[in-house]
Amino acid sequence: GATIGILGGGQLGRMLSVAASRLGFRCHFYEPAAEPPAADVAHRVTTASYGDREALAAFAASVDVVTYEFENIPTAALDAIEALVPIRPNRRTLAVSQDRLTEKAFASELGLMTAPFAAVDDAVDLAEAMAEIGLPAILKTRRLGYDGKGQARIDQPEDAPAALAAMGGAPAIMEGFVSFTREISVIAARGLTGEVACYDPGLNVHRDGILRTTTVPAPLTTAQRTDAVLLAGRLLNALDYVGVMGVELFVTPRGLLVNEIAPRVHNSGHWTQNGCVIDQFEQHVRAIAGWPLGDGTRHSDIEMENLIGDDVDKVPALARDPAVAIHLYGKAEARPGRKMGHVNRRLGPASLQ
Ligand code: ATP
Ligand code: MG
Ligand code: MG
Repeated sequence: GATIGILGGGQLGRMLSVAASRLGFRCHFYEPAAEPPAADVAHRVTTASYGDREALAAFAASVDVVTYEFENIPTAALDAIEALVPIRPNRRTLAVSQDRLTEKAFASELGLMTAPFAAVDDAVDLAEAMAEIGLPAILKTRRLGYDGKGQARIDQPEDAPAALAAMGGAPAIMEGFVSFTREISVIAARGLTGEVACYDPGLNVHRDGILRTTTVPAPLTTAQRTDAVLLAGRLLNALDYVGVMGVELFVTPRGLLVNEIAPRVHNSGHWTQNGCVIDQFEQHVRAIAGWPLGDGTRHSDIEMENLIGDDVDKVPALARDPAVAIHLYGKAEARPGRKMGHVNRRLGPASLQ
């Protein structure tokens, strides 16, 4: 059978590998850290840094297509791979989504709304951005942030120096604070021949910058639901995207704003494992392997809850509820803020929304 190469061996890679093996594929992971969550279910794991060109070339030579479960791969690492096998989603998408500035500029060039934003490299830029955008605002590192890390709120001008210091000298972006009514996301897929399929938008609730729950259906009007999937389709088509993408949106009275895009399977799409016949992981594998996309219709209403840190201690109690599907990532140590697993609670048959 064919072999899929996956850059990154975290829980997303682990769940991709399970779906891929159901379809008869083998997965070869490339991951700098030892004993990553995906190792348990992998056919093969290469442990090497993203700067190791020899290891990257050997990895690429051993697979038929390369995908990633982690978007912060140095794009130079893709050179050695691209010479040998296709990378899906493509490299341009990776470059655009790695940097919050290029990501927001891309969305706004497409005519989509975002929070007002400005690049901030120093105190002068920050003063100008505050004058232009106003407060409250959020300063974020342009690269490498996740789970709300690398972000600082600026509520009043006096907060500015500390916020800038929190960036640690890294290039940053200031975003106007959006007083959204809700946060939702669309998990969208695009196949090799350009067909697009979207899952129903989910309602996302964050705590301490980390996703806690996703619930489907999200409480949206028909117009908002349509806007959300059309907007996602525009992003995928413009990028000539192949695979699954997570599109995070803010719902506001003025319409939907794009917060960020993730060029991979997404935590807010985990509900699809128990809410749809074809989940986001199988859909991604189908897309990158050039298969037709599957049916992502929601058959059940689901609440996905992340098990973060000590939450994992609740598993024995959760297991007593027959409507709860448990997904654990095989991580030995439950550190605070660490995603250990998630549960999908079936609320009932798919309700019309
Ligand atoms: P993820 O783990 O989703 O990749 P991240 O670290 O990349 O997160 P963001 O998605 O940019 O961070 O921000 C995390 C959360 O902070 C958002 O889901 C939202 O709740 C809040 N937030 C971010 N930007 C803004 C904004 N401009 N206005 C209001 N709230 C915001
Ligand atoms: Mg992010
Ligand atoms: Mg986010």
